[in-house]
Amino acid sequence: VAAARGRRRSLDEFAVIERFFSRPARTRRTDVVLGIGDDAAVTRAPAGKDLVIATDTLVEGTHFTADAPARSVGHRSLAVNLSDLAAMGAEPLWATLALSVPEADADWLGEFSRGFFALARRYRVALIGGDTVAGPAGATVTVHGCVAAGRFVPRSGARPGDAMYVTGHPGDAVAGRLLLDRSRFARRGGAALIRAFLYPEPRLREGRALLGIASAMIDVSDGLHDDARKLLAASGCGADLDAGAVPVSGAMRRLFREESLPLALTGGDDYELLFTVPRKLEPRLQRLAARWCCPITRLGEVTTGKAVRWHLGGRAFRVPNLTFRHF
Ligand SMILES: [Mg+2]
Repeated sequence: VAAARGRRRSLDEFAVIERFFSRPARTRRTDVVLGIGDDAAVTRAPAGKDLVIATDTLVEGTHFTADAPARSVGHRSLAVNLSDLAAMGAEPLWATLALSVPEADADWLGEFSRGFFALARRYRVALIGGDTVAGPAGATVTVHGCVAAGRFVPRSGARPGDAMYVTGHPGDAVAGRLLLDRSRFARRGGAALIRAFLYPEPRLREGRALLGIASAMIDVSDGLHDDARKLLAASGCGADLDAGAVPVSGAMRRLFREESLPLALTGGDDYELLFTVPRKLEPRLQRLAARWCCPITRLGEVTTGKAVRWHLGGRAFRVPNLTFRHF
């Protein structure tokens, strides 16, 4: 081990893949003709569907710290991608993983793979290929999903009069990250916030259920206000939104008090779904969402023009210019 320090030990790529990433029994899919082990994977594209593809990279120092639990890094590398599929209303099928690590640390790789596959199994995603390389720690995942032909939910479909909703409790993830930075241990009620940051749950079931209901959708990765602006800009609309309606969790309110609302509006890494719904479909949405495990909250309405206005208690509310850019 000492000899390996100072120079990059080359990974025995085959051994790493064999040991940590090629366990076909974990997620069997009949649409995987050829998985890991050949020059390329072969899959059978579902008939009558459009393929939906997303890719995202997590890099140490930018998206996670050197002492982040490897299980969380494995989970998040897949979760952030699945969240992008959720935001299109797509169902996940397959994933590829390109992993860069400074050395073949069996404990780290074991925990990474545990986090990755626990989530993959939950949503029946098959890992069909990838690459491992010696280098700075980072993971690039590409996910493939599908949606009924032409039925995906774009960012650009919001229309004036539509209502805007968000799932879950935006801000919990950034609060969890701040707790990790500040204390290194979970304070009362903080464990749930830390969990929201380390193990975000992609809203796949909710995203699919919103097909035919949501007119536009985005996942909240950069913060509620920022992502609302992106969705509305893509749709060529503005919005009147109630900052008092933003669903701040009880744990967040207890631990962050007056910081809660600014954090909920500007913190990223939530992976909740932000979407718009035509007014006539709102009763259907309410009936549907009553069965979901996460709450939905109506934030306000889409307007003509380009301005995204927040108000609080009848007055204009200025979203503070906090920057919680990843680390
Ligand atoms: Mg996204």
